[in-house]
Amino acid sequence: MIDRIVNTASDIDSDDSDIEVTLRPKDFNGYIGQDRLKANLKLAIAAAKKRDEPLDHILLYGPPGLGKTTMASVIANEMNAQIRITSGPAVERPGDLASLLTNLSDDDILFIDEIHRLHRTVEEVLYTAMEDFKLDIMLGKGPSARSLRLDLPKFTIIGATTRTGAIAAPLRDRFGMVHRLDFYTVEQIEAIIARAAKILNVKIDSPAANILANRARLTPRIANRLLKRVRDYADINGDGVIDTDIAYRALKLLDIDELGLDSTDRLLLATIIDNYRGGPVGVETLAAITAEERTTIEDMIEPYLLQIGLLERTPRGRQVTAKTYTHLGKTKTASDSNQSSLV
Ligand code: ADP
Repeated sequence: MIDRIVNTASDIDSDDSDIEVTLRPKDFNGYIGQDRLKANLKLAIAAAKKRDEPLDHILLYGPPGLGKTTMASVIANEMNAQIRITSGPAVERPGDLASLLTNLSDDDILFIDEIHRLHRTVEEVLYTAMEDFKLDIMLGKGPSARSLRLDLPKFTIIGATTRTGAIAAPLRDRFGMVHRLDFYTVEQIEAIIARAAKILNVKIDSPAANILANRARLTPRIANRLLKRVRDYADINGDGVIDTDIAYRALKLLDIDELGLDSTDRLLLATIIDNYRGGPVGVETLAAITAEERTTIEDMIEPYLLQIGLLERTPRGRQVTAKTYTHLGKTKTASDSNQSSLV
């Protein structure tokens, strides 16, 4: 899975990570799209500045690669605040959280990626920290144990998650703002590609940028990654300029089709049709077919397929649609089960 170009995980290789940092927009002007989110945040930032208060805690959710981490650093920049970045699994014990929080200063932002993966014991310490800017720590053990309450600086937590459903209600309730990031439009992805090309000094014509934009799964991280791979192809097989011919040839080599699907997506959809008469089929079965983790299917593969209408979620599992049959060039037979999606 790790070598899938359409993989939305942020840690594929360090080269890509470096590029991501270079390409990360610094302020609201550079951050393309997500207009409703930006409008809400601009208001909250202006209000916090006017009252000279820290920003309310913010929870950002949505599929990977849509710009949650980037938005957290934009917010920090717009607030002239320092940002510290960590992730749910990295904060193993309450003591780790205590040392992170006590090292913050007033108005600092603590970004916690994958906040749904925080340990329960850590999460509980976070509640009072977020609510009252106090930290309750236990000293000693047994009958002589004492609890100590420390004052914390007035910080802001920005949490990011791919799944709000996995966040315990008490934690979720402590965020003053909860916002979903939407998939981008093809036009916005085209603008993101044009911006990245300029920064990386890549020559790409606009029809070629449009081809890449259509295959980037409406996701900025994939758009940037595609641009980089196609640039490699253009450097080796051409004169470094990306035109439509180079774009098509590179994408063929990468095995990415006109909807941005790769072989794993197509295998998954074709198996639902061939072995399960179009579905519904449980997500565990899909995980077994593709040899992927269930969470990988749910967080990385499925959201885009649902978004473009190639997959539907039902109480009994996932099913394909009439569009899936057309896209894969398959004919729906009388025994195929999900008649509803034919209309
Ligand atoms: P997430 O945290 O949601 O997984 P990131 O914030 O790491 O996603 O975004 C991945 C990459 O995509 C960033 O490095 C950045 O270059 C690019 N990106 C994300 N959102 C935007 C945007 N709105 N405009 C331009 N580039 C973006």
